[in-house]
Amino acid sequence: MTYPAAENRFAIIGGGASGSMVLAYLTRNATKDSLAGVTFDLFDPNGFGCGGIAYGKALPGMVLNSVRTEMSPWDGPAFRDHFNVHAAHTFEARGAGGYLDFLQQETLWAIKQLRQAGAQINLHRTAVTPEQHGDKFALVDPDGKAATPPLPAKRIVLAAGYGPNPHFADLKPYAGNGYIHSLYDGFDPAVMDGPRRKTVAFLGSGPALYDFVNAINDDLDSLDLVVISPSGAPMGTRDLSIEGSETRITPFNMLAAGQATCEALTEAVKKDIRIAQERGATNRRIGLDIVRNLGPALAAMDEEEAIAFRNSPLVAQLRHWATPIPVESARRLQTFSPRFVQQRLRPEDISLKRGRFEIAAPDGTLHADFIVNGTGHGRHNAPALEALKKAGLARVDPKTGVLATDEGGIALAPSGLLCLGPAVHPGTDGMESFAPGAEAIAAHIHRTAAAARAPAFVRTNAPPNRQQMTAVPA
Ligand SMILES: Cc1cc2nc3c(=O)[nH]c(=O)nc-3n(C[C@H](O)[C@H](O)[C@H](O)COP(=O)(O)OP(=O)(O)OC[C@H]3O[C@@H](n4cnc5c(N)ncnc54)[C@H](O)[C@@H]3O)c2cc1C
Repeated sequence: MTYPAAENRFAIIGGGASGSMVLAYLTRNATKDSLAGVTFDLFDPNGFGCGGIAYGKALPGMVLNSVRTEMSPWDGPAFRDHFNVHAAHTFEARGAGGYLDFLQQETLWAIKQLRQAGAQINLHRTAVTPEQHGDKFALVDPDGKAATPPLPAKRIVLAAGYGPNPHFADLKPYAGNGYIHSLYDGFDPAVMDGPRRKTVAFLGSGPALYDFVNAINDDLDSLDLVVISPSGAPMGTRDLSIEGSETRITPFNMLAAGQATCEALTEAVKKDIRIAQERGATNRRIGLDIVRNLGPALAAMDEEEAIAFRNSPLVAQLRHWATPIPVESARRLQTFSPRFVQQRLRPEDISLKRGRFEIAAPDGTLHADFIVNGTGHGRHNAPALEALKKAGLARVDPKTGVLATDEGGIALAPSGLLCLGPAVHPGTDGMESFAPGAEAIAAHIHRTAAAARAPAFVRTNAPPNRQQMTAVPA
């Protein structure tokens, strides 16, 4: 008996950068007919390959934070080469005319390759949520209809991306009066135009701040910029002259056994930083490699202590170091001569009075015409992931702050659904950091598909001489 072809099926939920990267890795081992009889159902309400939040929702002027060679980990120079030939801008645009075009082209190419390898690809322009039915999962659309036959957990890949920005949601009633909740959700920079000089209070000093200054109009005289954030400082800039020759560091003290308290781990990490700096490592390298290893270090600690360390100023600083921004973005910010205010702002510090915002700051009241929230999106609060958490099919690991997984880092606990992207990644986000997960998922899909196509045979208790062979489904 062969396993029915219709059931040699996989679903990928979410066609942002991560979902598309899985397709790119799938093409690596897809030879002629290797995927015959295999069906892929690809889901995204915005179209698979839409670029997701980072590239699909980028405004003109928003630039890549990573360098060209980091943006196509499945084929090192592919984006660099595309950029040199096709880019419509002199700078690395994240959206149209830049990386978005490349990602769409790679997705279409991957789909073509997989079809040539015999796969059937079904594109569904809808959102779906996995719902458990016995030992399988139905993928249910917003009308409550199942979009595919029920599938085992290990045939479903979730790449739903960041969820809606949860910070300062209390300020949403001010939308329309100068409060902008998200740059990536229909923000029109023209609202800030006008004859009078305006003051903008920007909340957060991470990459979104640089997206904002890169996206707003060139009329520099019309804006006073106040940046309010816990660090009260701009981000570091990328130094491309040394990045190429950086070598990885291993934070031995952080990883050594026995760092049970926040204080002990802080001391260990500071020691690692000192040693690495003495050996000439850059802050970017130090930030990247310490943050990369946070998962195991946090897992070895008591919960309360792990949470305290994860939220400490030291980790905030390391995350900043790990993601320096391009020099051009830093220069663009400086043209606004921003004033930085160090404050962990709360919604109750803000009020709207006679058409202007009043912000209670440490050195007195600040006034602003606009407040722009640039404090980031939730790692695992995409609606589909929220639904899984509610149904007990996924849970947040309090120590790492991301969804708990098996040892391999991709199968959600306890459901076993495969997951990729910020929801399961305790380190620094980016194409390069998600690549190992995408590669592992693609390898798993090939293995599972091949096992179902050429089933293993086992002996049953059949009489001698008439040994019956039975297929073992994957
Ligand atoms: C503003 C910003 C800039 C960034 N810049 C860079 C950069 O320059 N370089 C870099 O390497 N990294 C960058 N990053 C990191 C970035 O997170 C990753 O590179 C990548 O974009 C994450 O992609 P994703 O597919 O996991 O998530 P997303 O981009 O959020 O995509 C998720 C997709 O899933 C779909 N979806 C959600 N729920 C469902 C559902 N239930 N059913 C079907 N579909 C669903 C959504 O429509 C969306 O298209 C940036 C991140 C942000 C937020």
